[in-house]
Amino acid sequence: MKKEKKIIYINLDGFSYSYYQYLHKHKLDKGFLELANDGIFFRNLYSGLISITNPMQSAILCGAWSNKTHNFYQHFDKETRKVLKHFRTFDAENIAQLFLKNGKTVVSIHQFMLENNPCVRGEKNNNYITSPKEHSNYKDRFELLGKIIKKEPIVIDEKEIVYEEFPDFLALYIDDLDSLGHNNNYEQFYKKKTYGERIFDIISRLNDIQNELVRMKELCISEGIYNDLIILLTTDHGMTPFFGKSHLNELRDDLNSLGIKAEVATCVKDDTEVVLLPYTIECSLYYIKDLDKEKKRKIDNLLKSKHYILKYLYKDEMMKKYGLDDRGPDVLISPIYNEHFYTKDYLENYGGNHDSLHKTSQHIFGMIFGGDIKKEVFTKRYRSIDLLPSIIRSNNNYFLKDSTSNNLFDVLSRKA
Ligand SMILES: [Zn+2]
Repeated sequence: MKKEKKIIYINLDGFSYSYYQYLHKHKLDKGFLELANDGIFFRNLYSGLISITNPMQSAILCGAWSNKTHNFYQHFDKETRKVLKHFRTFDAENIAQLFLKNGKTVVSIHQFMLENNPCVRGEKNNNYITSPKEHSNYKDRFELLGKIIKKEPIVIDEKEIVYEEFPDFLALYIDDLDSLGHNNNYEQFYKKKTYGERIFDIISRLNDIQNELVRMKELCISEGIYNDLIILLTTDHGMTPFFGKSHLNELRDDLNSLGIKAEVATCVKDDTEVVLLPYTIECSLYYIKDLDKEKKRKIDNLLKSKHYILKYLYKDEMMKKYGLDDRGPDVLISPIYNEHFYTKDYLENYGGNHDSLHKTSQHIFGMIFGGDIKKEVFTKRYRSIDLLPSIIRSNNNYFLKDSTSNNLFDVLSRKA
């Protein structure tokens, strides 16, 4: 039997494919191209619903959407008439649990969805490792990975742990790009007025991360483990800029003018029929009273007529096509690029978020590389939940028990 390879899964939170397209257009993607020579590059990889960090991070780790994980960030609970947040709810078997159950070693560096699930701080076989710095960035976290590659001790609570053999599964989580994409003040990068200015900050950090990845490859080669590795590099969602007046109150007023009693989730009254629950860009509608056909038709006509709406999805479609939990909204509304449903206007600086059906949020970066993987560009459409199940089926003949991915591909048998 062929020797099983070790898996490194790197998640660069908020790595929109549009950032990669920017790099490529300006011929700044030399590092990524070098890595793509050693494996599979995904041209059409997509995030899911709802494209927010915790739901998408958990989806990737178990190969299933929220009908299995029960995490789609939040919902309006019709019984208690309250908004319930899902925080770190993760009700499906994840890859680290599966590996550990099979006697393998798993390590998480800052991949928080695996914290105590099953990775525990200081446990050698299922370790949860974080940087001693309070605000660690990509460099600090790659440094921890570098120590493991070099078999140097990792110090946790004064205890030294050395991995004489590289762990069977290692997850590394990095969120510099996400913070910059949200237009937060981040390290030396101050909040910018426009996305046109901010993109330089994002590209600058992405370039640093690209160089770090190439250094990691070189280190793996010099330590003699590159041929024994499958390295997955991907993300949870992209990022979409938005600016200007929110459409939230406007949509509520439009619904009311049609004779439908609609309120924002924080102001629900006894006679409210439709609840509007915004996140940042998208707005969900919950029908908390039975609406007759006529009212539903009126809502549909309203949504159809609005120039600022890109797309709206009904619950049936979201459950069937996107594996959405049945506690999800009756309608999910996503505006066109730049528009939003946030609870306040954005008149000063632009904002960035990823709860959007726009391609800048949905189309994500992904590649799989290693010393022994055949070069290939995948143009077929894949979803983020297809990645890890495909890798472990090819490499370990493992199946995640809750995975609903039905679009698996081969990672290893392609080598000539
Ligand atoms: Zn995220």
